[in-house]
Amino acid sequence: MREMTCITCPNGCTLQIEEVEGILHVTGNKCKRGEAFAIAELTHPMRTICSTVRTIYPEVPVLPVRVSGEIPKERIFDVMKEINHILVDRHVRRGDVLLENVLGSGVDIIVTSNRLSREENENECETV
Ligand code: SF4
Repeated sequence: MREMTCITCPNGCTLQIEEVEGILHVTGNKCKRGEAFAIAELTHPMRTICSTVRTIYPEVPVLPVRVSGEIPKERIFDVMKEINHILVDRHVRRGDVLLENVLGSGVDIIVTSNRLSREENENECETV
């Protein structure tokens, strides 16, 4: 018997998972998503990553990024290494791709802020 907390929604149901003859049985879930979560966690756990990358701009030394989709949990450290190698040297805006198909995972590293977009800088100049 294993126990885990479902993190799919704020209810945070406590799930019990028992394997009987190779089949996982989930209890404690208030909805079907909890069962799917528990089985995925035990068979192929996936995660998203939110982080920051460095830039060459002193006024915006770091920029927030995230992965465009979920990646296998065991690849988080490898993907983080790739994220840590990124140095932004151009103006970018929210949604721009900084690194495509990172490590062949099928997901991209994308910008989640407009702090380095040309429009943002133009607006800042207008208000000064
Ligand atoms: S089992 Fe359903 S209700 Fe409970 S935390 Fe998971 S998603 Fe939410």
